[in-house]
Amino acid sequence: MANFSKIFNEHLSTVNYCEIVHKGLSCKQHMLRSHLYSTLSTFKFLIPALLLPVIPKIPILTKEKLKQLLWDYISCSIGCSLVAAVGVDLCCLMRILLGRNYLYTMCFLPAFFGAFFVHLIKQPVFQVTLNYMYQGVVDIFLRRNNVVSKTISSSKSIQTIIFMLCSTLILHGKRLYGMRGFWLITPNRPNTAEDNDIENSKKHCNLHSNISCGNYLWKGVRKYFFAGLTLDCLSAIRKAALLKTKWNGIKKFRMYWAMKFSLYHGLYTSTHCFLNRINAAPDMINHTLASCCAGLSYYFFPQIGLLSYAIVLGFEALWEMFRDHKAVTKFYILKICINFFYNFLLFPLACGYSSHVYVMQPRFCSPVGVFILNQASNNYIAKISNLVQQIIKDVKHLNKD
Ligand SMILES: [Zn+2]
Ligand SMILES: [Zn+2]
Repeated sequence: MANFSKIFNEHLSTVNYCEIVHKGLSCKQHMLRSHLYSTLSTFKFLIPALLLPVIPKIPILTKEKLKQLLWDYISCSIGCSLVAAVGVDLCCLMRILLGRNYLYTMCFLPAFFGAFFVHLIKQPVFQVTLNYMYQGVVDIFLRRNNVVSKTISSSKSIQTIIFMLCSTLILHGKRLYGMRGFWLITPNRPNTAEDNDIENSKKHCNLHSNISCGNYLWKGVRKYFFAGLTLDCLSAIRKAALLKTKWNGIKKFRMYWAMKFSLYHGLYTSTHCFLNRINAAPDMINHTLASCCAGLSYYFFPQIGLLSYAIVLGFEALWEMFRDHKAVTKFYILKICINFFYNFLLFPLACGYSSHVYVMQPRFCSPVGVFILNQASNNYIAKISNLVQQIIKDVKHLNKD
């Protein structure tokens, strides 16, 4: 780090990146362009995330619901584009006002202040945006060189245990508190018709009526297999679109999500049905054990990005449980702490940190995090990162000689 500070003070602090990154354009022209292109880029980038999943549901959607979805899409696009465009404006403004670069004015502070515009985004899309940004931060932590990160990232067994714990918290949180945010499956709920019939529910599994446990399991696995297959196809198409030889991209098609979804659901439902049938414990405890067992699927299909996402949702579930537990507290200070809107500050910090790491040490950023930052800023942040990395490389090369 001391070495990096020396390189920064001697070589990066005096670089006028305005002259290099937006060559031929004044800062004012560049700011106007960045507002226009960031808006277009985010509107395009959010179509697959927010509008495509709605297309199959259009025939059953009401006019009001459709209007709501379109407003969510527009507010999310405008919010995200302003985060990036204001960040770009501040990069130029800070460079002009301060006359030189400081470590945290190059990217961290512009991204931090720009990120406050995220509060224009409506719920529940806001929560999804937060989750992806926090996932990026956990991803960076897991890729770092410290002892904790190295221990976790080098051991599949430790990752599986963490994933099992997170899976328990997430499915429990979703079932009990209706927690938002995408997860691999939706939790099983007891069938209310049989719920009242205590004698019957003791003899049979109370998750479904009129079909056997085997049929219930098969229906779920089939449903999640096709959902995962759709995701695999979309990801293969996206990868192929980025390659020059499209055929090579299609040949690399891998059935990852289809297998992951079906195995996760298979383990979860089979354990839940089995424990309910043998009447091992109350349904709530059986559900918790089944959610934990489902996490075992991570061992066969590991992915650091998914683990980071599970950690974020796991913390969210824990926080919901804590809030629910302390909801009736009489302590005034605890009440304020529980109801404080932490995301107001945490999101800008996460945004500033991710952008700063991407510019200074891009090897610690995940491909998903890099993709989101580039799409939102219309590749502006990639240009600064490339410039900084090129200078660092040149300096190290000179020092070797
Ligand atoms: Zn500029
Ligand atoms: Zn069953």
